[in-house]
Amino acid sequence: MAEHWYKNALLYCLDVKTFADGNGDGIGDFAGLTEKLQYLAGLNVDCVWLQPFHPSPMRDNGYDITDYYGVDPRLGTLGDFAEFSRCARDKGIRVMIDLVVNHTSIDHPWFQAARSDPHSPYRDYYVWADEKPADAAEGTVFPGEQTTTWTWDREAKAYYFHRFYDHQAELNISNPAVRREIEKITGFWLQMGVTGFRIDALPFLIELKGLDAEGEIDPHDYLRELRHHVQTLRGDVCLMAEANLPPEDVPDYFGDGDKIHMSFNFWVNQHLFLALARHDATPVRVAWEQLPPLPVWCQWNNFLRSHDELDLGRLSDKERQEVFRAFGPEPDMQLYERGIRRRLAPMLGNDRRRLEMAHSLMLTLPGTPVLRYGDEIGMGDDLGLPDRESVRTPMQWDASANGGFSSAPPEQLVLPVIAQGEYGFEQVNVEQQRHDPQSLLNWLERVTRRRKECPAFGLGDCSFIDTGLAHVLAHRCEYQGTTLFALHNFADKRARFKLPLGAAGTQTGCVHDILAGHRHELQRDGHYQVELEPFGYRWLMCETGA
Ligand code: MG
Repeated sequence: MAEHWYKNALLYCLDVKTFADGNGDGIGDFAGLTEKLQYLAGLNVDCVWLQPFHPSPMRDNGYDITDYYGVDPRLGTLGDFAEFSRCARDKGIRVMIDLVVNHTSIDHPWFQAARSDPHSPYRDYYVWADEKPADAAEGTVFPGEQTTTWTWDREAKAYYFHRFYDHQAELNISNPAVRREIEKITGFWLQMGVTGFRIDALPFLIELKGLDAEGEIDPHDYLRELRHHVQTLRGDVCLMAEANLPPEDVPDYFGDGDKIHMSFNFWVNQHLFLALARHDATPVRVAWEQLPPLPVWCQWNNFLRSHDELDLGRLSDKERQEVFRAFGPEPDMQLYERGIRRRLAPMLGNDRRRLEMAHSLMLTLPGTPVLRYGDEIGMGDDLGLPDRESVRTPMQWDASANGGFSSAPPEQLVLPVIAQGEYGFEQVNVEQQRHDPQSLLNWLERVTRRRKECPAFGLGDCSFIDTGLAHVLAHRCEYQGTTLFALHNFADKRARFKLPLGAAGTQTGCVHDILAGHRHELQRDGHYQVELEPFGYRWLMCETGA
């Protein structure tokens, strides 16, 4: 049976401008990234997802684009991108890029034309109103920073709609010309060698708020249209959605397997942090079981942290406060009334046991894991930086100046490298961890290699097992005759329990501890006696004699 590459891949998310600076100007670039491809290959990465690298006034970290066909000149040229894309392919690494077409920067030539001439063909690329809508104060993505979703434009003499910042004008997806532009943009980058797109802010992209078209067209048909277009151009394409969906909305986005291929699993991510805060696995299990099954072509993206705040908006107020207390108790650790602007390692107290357990969960829960750059070495955050920049500091390569990120003077760096304390680059860097067999980096290299040998975690049917212990999450994944078990202890205490391993009557065989390499005989009653250390985890394969 044909398999879909993205369903059993390891993705790695990075921002070109903070990863590696090849020309010494203080800004990461494609030349620097290309040199680091071997590092990513060594980490068993199948696909890199690049955050936006297009020309931009950088008022929202590049998510405010002025030219969809270009490369920000500070990051390189289109030729540098092509070379990067070719070198990645040669190393067996696919490339996905951000598709940010919910909005453009107001500096984009389309908006400039639209605002200056009501008869411009670009006027209808955006969403306008003569009067400020009554609900303008509601629904901003950045509460506390934006107070309205409609802003008056003096030149246009009209209000324009923006879910995000007021410098990010919403594109009008009901306009066929805008859809045609998105076809051209996706077609262009597929020709440049990318395998797919992470669709930024997907639920907002397909909303029709403020448009007369509301009720006339089905925005979800547009997802089918986009999928058909990209799949026609490239058969192994992948559309990955940034969509923070409640379970009941999931089918709308996956359709019959004819819309998006994957979506970030924000639902489970938020409940995972609730479970970590409570030392109780129940929220993860309950959240998983609330999700509907996905069509066979589709997959979840499992992740721990992203380039944004840890969004806890789907939790109840009480639950969110629990997570705040555990992982972001100070007001300046919190953001937008819903999230935490910290990296994983500081949230987990730099406790190696908890870091391993959290990564093990990301790798074994059904889905495709997405690793955020820097988490493989346990990088920290810089709360002295504004907003989400706290988790966007440059990659720490070695103990030399600027952590080896750039040879420029420190004051020229795009963002400061973390230099002080427990997470400073002299303590936390790739080079030092490379030479330490016990390091987090080497641990992650080993477990990602084992994960690739266990496709049942990505492709199999998953079910949860009741161990009788609330702090233990036990799940089994079955695929093509292989049965894997993953066991995770969320508490700072040992867990002893009997794991029922297989079909009734299975009384012979052995259990293979995949990470430790041990084999144990199955007990006569078909159970396996497990003892997990505090925050311990196991990956088991059952080899029955039946
Ligand atoms: Mg540079």
